[in-house]
Amino acid sequence: MTDKAPLKLLCVTAHPDDECFAFGGALMLAAEAGVETSVICFTDGQAATNRGTAMSPQHLGEMRRAEFAASCDILSVTHHELLDYQDGQLEFANFSEATAKLVKRIRDLKPDVVLTFGLDGGMNTHADHTLVCAFTSAAFHWAASPKRFTELGPVHTAQRLFFNTTNFFFPSRHAPLPGPWTVTLDVSRVQHRKFEAFRAHTSQLPLMEKFQSFFEKRASHEYYTLAATPNPQPAVQETSLFTGLRVVHEN
Ligand SMILES: [Zn+2]
Repeated sequence: MTDKAPLKLLCVTAHPDDECFAFGGALMLAAEAGVETSVICFTDGQAATNRGTAMSPQHLGEMRRAEFAASCDILSVTHHELLDYQDGQLEFANFSEATAKLVKRIRDLKPDVVLTFGLDGGMNTHADHTLVCAFTSAAFHWAASPKRFTELGPVHTAQRLFFNTTNFFFPSRHAPLPGPWTVTLDVSRVQHRKFEAFRAHTSQLPLMEKFQSFFEKRASHEYYTLAATPNPQPAVQETSLFTGLRVVHEN
């Protein structure tokens, strides 16, 4: 590939709606800049408290798959995929199998930048978020290793792994133990579309009603921590996920 090939971003999430409330600003700014964006979500959210008109867990899962697709369209996501893991059960999933699914997708999609939650579990400390962080972190490193998963195609070295972090806590919930951020993204220009994407999750609208005013005060910025890169370097404060990025594809 040449240096003119578009940059690629992969975002790995646990539940339909993570892509908008946690990562929506980063996804939209990247798309506007011509970056190809992909979202891989592990579960279809069958264990959600808010169940809309769903008649069964399976029905809710089907509804949430459609809502996820609609949200990704609003966020201008190039490619989205929802895996078939059980909501609320990722801590019991087979670690190697789950990571292999991501290694395969990283080697196929060849992202330059990978986004996911931090090990704290994000702003609501959800255990599924913690596990997605663990799977994605291992996959980021192992996709680049010629010793790992040799049957899953040629290695790919992504250039940046970022964890989503937060500068606020829900007053009524157990506070996360957040990592310090290295990237401050001003997403105020697109923040209204984060809410538009969230409203595409119609089964989760009660959540939106509960938290909208809380989020509206805090939706103008997203925070990310640089967690890994192929080049040894001191942590510096950035305002973009792509600063100084050279496109290096091995194949
Ligand atoms: Zn979630």
